[in-house]
Order: sequence, then structure tokens, then C-alpha cells
Amino acid sequence: MKSYCRTCNDELIIGVNFTEADVKYGKVSCRKCQNEYSRGLSKKFNHDQKLRRKISTSLSEHRLRGYEVKGSIDDYVKTFTNQCAFCGEPFDLFDKNRYKRGSMDRISNGNIVSPQNVQWLCHKCNLTKQDRSNEEFLEYIEKIYSELKKKSKSLIFPDS
Ligand SMILES: [Zn+2]
Ligand SMILES: [Zn+2]
Repeated sequence: MKSYCRTCNDELIIGVNFTEADVKYGKVSCRKCQNEYSRGLSKKFNHDQKLRRKISTSLSEHRLRGYEVKGSIDDYVKTFTNQCAFCGEPFDLFDKNRYKRGSMDRISNGNIVSPQNVQWLCHKCNLTKQDRSNEEFLEYIEKIYSELKKKSKSLIFPDS
């Protein structure tokens, strides 16, 4: 039996404009119409609302992974800054390009997420830091710095 997108009336074909998951979750519109719908939704939210949604998603993910989450969403909203705590570069949390975005990061390792233990980093710094604590990250950077300094001549001027 053929099914049709309730929004644009195109035939729903699994693997083309419809997925197994769409069937499972009882979706009634094709992928294209679903995407347009969520783009419309995200335009309706202002920066503060999107920030709260982002924080709330991140906290629930941490809870699911077994972390103890302290504080309210308001407390986390107050920690927000769009300047990277490490390199100082400003970022847009919702940039289309994920390399230009930033994210909330835990300062020290451990099983607790609290407003006192978070900072906001640009994507590049966060990628480099990975799951290190700030302290471990600093040690890592210092190691790179001193190694590069020793080798800088041959690395910067490989032919000289
Ligand atoms: Zn459609
Ligand atoms: Zn940075």
C-alpha cells in the first residue's frame, strides 16, 4: 500500500525520502517537509530559548550517562558567554557551520556536573581538549609548547 506525505503529497519511499525510523515513530510527512518544519520551529525561538534548550539537552544527556547534575537551567544560563574561555575567540552557539560553534564543557573531570564546573569553549579548543580536565589540558599544551620550541627551527624552516 502506498503512502503519501501529508504536507506535499509526494509518495513516501523508504530510503529515498522516508526512513524506517519515520515509520516506527508514525511520521506522516516526508524528510524534506520534516526538515522544513524543524527549520521553521528553530527560527521561532530566540537566542535565550535556544540556549535553554541546548543546556537542557546537554544536562539530560549527562544524567543518562550517569552524571550527577546539580543546579537549575537558570544557573547554567548565567554561566554562558560567547567568548571561548581558552583562546578568547567569540563564537555563535547556533552557527550553521559546526566549526564556528561553541559548547559547554566541564572544567574538571569527575562524576558531577555543576554550574561552578562549566565553561564555554569554541569548537576548536573543545576538540583539542577532549575529555581532559583544565589542568591536564594545560600540561598537554605546555608539553607541545616546549617540544615545538626545541624543534621549531627544523619544523618552521624544514629546508634550512
Ligand atoms: Zn513532503
Ligand atoms: Zn577557543
